Amino acid sequence: KFGRKRPLFSGHEEQPLSSCKRMCLTDWSNRALQHDGLKAYVSPTWVSRRTKYLTDTKGLFGQILFWSNTENSAKKVLEHLRSKAAIVDTLLSDSVSRKFSAFHRDMTEECGAEAKQHSWAVLEKPEEIIMYGPYYPNYNNGEHSEDIIIKQTQELLCSRDVPEDWKVYVFTMNSPCLVRNTDPCINTDPCMLSLIHKAWEWWRVHGVKTHIGYVRCWGFKGNKENLFKEINFRQVECITQGVDYESYSKLADKITDLNPLCETVFSIAKDVLRSDKKHFPMMSSDQKQDRRSYFKSMSCSFEGKQGDEKKHLTTELNTMIEAAEALLSEKPESIEEHLEKGEAFSMAHTFSSQVCEALRDEMRVRFQQCWREMVQDRYAEFVRDELTEKFNRSTVQLFLQDVQTFTRQYLQIGKLQL
Ligand SMILES: [Zn+2]
Repeated sequence: KFGRKRPLFSGHEEQPLSSCKRMCLTDWSNRALQHDGLKAYVSPTWVSRRTKYLTDTKGLFGQILFWSNTENSAKKVLEHLRSKAAIVDTLLSDSVSRKFSAFHRDMTEECGAEAKQHSWAVLEKPEEIIMYGPYYPNYNNGEHSEDIIIKQTQELLCSRDVPEDWKVYVFTMNSPCLVRNTDPCINTDPCMLSLIHKAWEWWRVHGVKTHIGYVRCWGFKGNKENLFKEINFRQVECITQGVDYESYSKLADKITDLNPLCETVFSIAKDVLRSDKKHFPMMSSDQKQDRRSYFKSMSCSFEGKQGDEKKHLTTELNTMIEAAEALLSEKPESIEEHLEKGEAFSMAHTFSSQVCEALRDEMRVRFQQCWREMVQDRYAEFVRDELTEKFNRSTVQLFLQDVQTFTRQYLQIGKLQL
C-alpha cells in the first residue's frame, strides 16, 4: 500500500540543496552538542541561530528525560489535575489543520472511514505529494502504526536529495504513545519520543519540517490506569460523603478491605464526582462483555432442590436473566434510574406456574441484589473511566507544552478537529 504518488505538475527539475546550506546542515548535525568551533567562520546570524539550536536541543533532551520516567511525569499530571487548572487541547495552526483536513478527506475517500487506531503520512514537496498508509498496529509483534510511518518516511527522505522546503505530515488516530510495554531485549521507544527524535533528525539532516495530527488523546493509556484502580463503589460513596480529605479518611477507615486513597487522587476524584450528576449507560458499545456472572448467586435460591425440579428452576432462571439483558442498553441514565429499572423488571417478570409463590419472591429479591451490585460496579467503572480520560488528556497537554517550546522551528503536534 506504499507510495501513492500524485504529481501536481511534471517537468519540474528538483533543485539540489545549495552547497552552502548543505554545509551548514551537515555541520549542525556533526556538532549538534559541541559548543565550540563554528563561530570562527560563520556569520553572526548563524551563530545566534546555532546558539538557540543548542539551547533548545539541550532543553528538549531534558524534557524527554523527565517524561521518560513515567512515575515522575504521572505525578506531575496528577498535581495539575488537583490544581483544577483547565485541560486545554493543543491545536495545530489553522493552515496546518486545513492541510490535514484535505489529506484526511482524500484518505477517507480512497480507503473509507476508520475509527480504529491507524496512521498515514504525507510527504509534501512543492511539485508533488506522496501519501503513504494507512498502517495498522500489529499487536502480535508489538509493532505500532507509527513505527511503520517512521521507517517509510526515513526511506523516502534518504532515497533522494531532499530540498529543505519539503514537509512531512503524520496523521495518527490516537496521539502517539508515551509509554510502551516492551520486551526489555527489544529497543522500542514510545512512539511520541521516537517521532520527536526523528523530527529533530529530519530537520537537522534534511531541513524538513514535521507536523503530527491526532484525533484522540492517548497519553499513558494502558499503563497508568492502576492509579485509579482502587476506586470501587464503596470508595465512590466515601468520596461523595466526605466533605474533605479528613472526613473521607474517617469514613474509609471504618470499611474493612478498603485502601484509603492518597490526598491527591481523593481531591481529583472528589472534583469529578462533584461536577455534575453522572449519567452512564449500563453497556458501552465497545465493551459488550457478558454481565451474566453477576447473577450466578441467584441459583442459591434453589440449592436444596433435586432432579427435574432443579432443572425447571434453572431454565426459569436463565429465561429471567436473558429477559433482563434488554435492560443493558447504551442509554445513559442516573444510578437511581438504573436501580429502579431493575426493581420494576423483577416485579413485572412473570414466572411459570411451576414456581411457587415463596420461591418467586426469593428470586425477585435476589435478582434485585445482583442487579444493584452490577449497577454499582458499572457506576464505579464509569467514574474510573472519566478519571482516566481526564488524566490522559492532561498528560498529552502537559507533555506538548513542555516539549513544544523547544521544537517550534521544525515540529508542530496537535489535536485535529475533523
Ligand atoms: Zn506507540
